[in-house]
Amino acid sequence: MCDHNRTEMIARRDGVDYVECLECREIFEAEDLEPIAVEEDDE
Ligand SMILES: [Zn+2]
Repeated sequence: MCDHNRTEMIARRDGVDYVECLECREIFEAEDLEPIAVEEDDE
């Protein structure tokens, strides 16, 4: 399974950056790479 750690921006459209993973060659929106906000679960 690829974690998409190595990516390269290939295009920008309508303010959305598109990146390509250099490992698996998958293309997706850069926003999808944003780490999900870590919810503090430290009660
Ligand atoms: Zn990948």
